[in-house]
Amino acid sequence: MDTPTFPNYIGGHWIDRGQHFENQNPARADEIIGLFAQGTAADIEEAAAAAAAALPAWANLNAPARGAILYKAADILDRRFEEVSADMTREEGKTLPEAKGEVRRTINIFRYFAGEGARLAGLLAPSERDRVHMFAIRKPVGVVGLITPWNFPSAIPAWKLAPALICGNTVVLKPASAAPLSAWRIVEALDEAALPAGVVNFVAGPGGALGQALVQAPPLKAISFTGSCGVGNWLHKEASARRLRIQLEMGGKNPTIVLADADFTAAVENTVNAAFFSTGQKCTATSRAIVEEAIYDRFVDALVERTRQLKVGDGMQPDTHIGPCVDQAQLDTVLHYIEVGRREAGAPRIGGQRLTSGDLARGYFVAPTIFAGVAPEMTIAREEIFGPVLAVIRARDFKDALRIANEIPLGLSASIQTTNVSRVFEFVYGMEAGLLTVNLPSAGVEYQLPFGGTKESSFGPKEQGPAALEFYSDYKTVYLKY
Ligand code: NAP
Repeated sequence: MDTPTFPNYIGGHWIDRGQHFENQNPARADEIIGLFAQGTAADIEEAAAAAAAALPAWANLNAPARGAILYKAADILDRRFEEVSADMTREEGKTLPEAKGEVRRTINIFRYFAGEGARLAGLLAPSERDRVHMFAIRKPVGVVGLITPWNFPSAIPAWKLAPALICGNTVVLKPASAAPLSAWRIVEALDEAALPAGVVNFVAGPGGALGQALVQAPPLKAISFTGSCGVGNWLHKEASARRLRIQLEMGGKNPTIVLADADFTAAVENTVNAAFFSTGQKCTATSRAIVEEAIYDRFVDALVERTRQLKVGDGMQPDTHIGPCVDQAQLDTVLHYIEVGRREAGAPRIGGQRLTSGDLARGYFVAPTIFAGVAPEMTIAREEIFGPVLAVIRARDFKDALRIANEIPLGLSASIQTTNVSRVFEFVYGMEAGLLTVNLPSAGVEYQLPFGGTKESSFGPKEQGPAALEFYSDYKTVYLKY
């Protein structure tokens, strides 16, 4: 069978200029899922111009009518649910149930923001002056650039696209090169839902060249980025020089604090789930378990035993728990940190190697790895690895655990496992992270409330829930004497 090709989408036209890059299945690196049209800086400029041309009509269309198009796109994705989910497993490697969960979330995000079309309220306040009526109307920001990572290749594009569109902005989307198909499927659905030409533009290709072109594109008014700290910090400089509105969601090194009074079995399950599911490639994954001394040894033993039961393999197989790393570069990064961990903390208690037996040799598989006896100052306790590697750190008590959890510069998500309600509240108020969970895995957020981190993990307004509307809209305030 011929390998399918996936064009870019600019000004309502599907465009393929003949240069392609491969979208590879990380579970079977010899399987090419598709060839994507390789966009250029000129394509980005054209896409930004198309978005600028489409802006006035889209911004002036009433918001419920914009919402109707988002509902329609959601229905199209829902009809293709099985196919779109399988695409995601094949391009990113996560298991099919995880991919289905993400596609369901994408559909829900579109419906949630479609509904906002009927609620998109401005502000009204009483004036101090007689016979003065004052109000603020909500306006779109303009042409918005969206840059997304590969680990949630559908949900992250969705949680940027849907609020941007409902607020009346037009968009240039640059997806991650390692997993562009899931975002392409959303654009395909929007096209079929009769989104007017130019409102959404999709350009795939190398982040460096396209990112530079996007941030420099004259019509651009705002940029929303999710990805690594290095790229985000560079973008921040470039975007600030142009006074673009900017939103950055970046790396994490998320802790799960486990106290001696926790429900032991649930704490083990939550920690293993957050550390290893989706191959540890969730930005909210736990990579540090900070465990109270009184249960430390028993807890490490239980983590190791539970991890031993996890089956690593192709995410399309129904008995697989953990899929591959997304590509060779990510595999190399994970193996590098495992070597660093060996030097710092000694042999891992479980895992620590690439898996190559049988069919696993075709993909980028790593055994889920646990290092015990990790000190807070070690590299594997401080730097994001973004793979199935867990560092277990000993803490004297809750205060010590919270201190360790907070002493790194990143602050995306954090979890506590405890039955002590006072500790829960001390954690809620004292933990320096934007997303907290209690007696749940650190990963696993919904779309109805604000999402985002603090400290060096994030910059700018939060995403998702009602908060998302603030980034994608502006106010025009009116004072009216009658
Ligand atoms: P990445 O390398 O920073 O890439 C993210 C996106 O930026 C990709 O589309 C990439 O394109 C593009 N890019 C690369 N260089 C660029 C440049 N110079 N200018 C503009 N764009 C550029 O990150 P990743 O490896 O895809 O994702 C993993 C990272 O994302 C982790 O650090 C993870 O914690 C973070 N993440 C954070 C959140 C959150 O909400 N905080 C959520 C998910 C992931 P190419 O793919 O073509 O290189």
